[in-house]
Amino acid sequence: MTMSRQPEDMSNVAPAQLDRWLRSIATTEEREIDCDSLFEVMDRVVELAQAGEDIRRLLPEIALHLDHCPDCRDLYESLESLAGESE
Ligand SMILES: [Zn+2]
Repeated sequence: MTMSRQPEDMSNVAPAQLDRWLRSIATTEEREIDCDSLFEVMDRVVELAQAGEDIRRLLPEIALHLDHCPDCRDLYESLESLAGESE
C-alpha cells in the first residue's frame, strides 16, 4: 500500500516564502483583505505571530483588517490562545 499523501508541515516553510504567499492572497483584493480570504490564511497568520513574527509589519493588510473587523479579530484571538495552549 502507498501513503504518498503527507500533511503539509508549515514549520518547514521559510517565513519569507510564507510572506510571499500570504501577500499574494492579501493583494488580490484592492488594498484590504476580505473576511473570506483572511479565514483561509488565519491559522498561518497565527503561526507566524506565535513564531515571533511581527504581523503588523509583515502583513499590514491583515493587521489592518483585524483592527476593524470584530469577527476576524475574535477568530484570530481564539486561534492564538489555542496555539499558545498547545505548547
Ligand atoms: Zn473580517
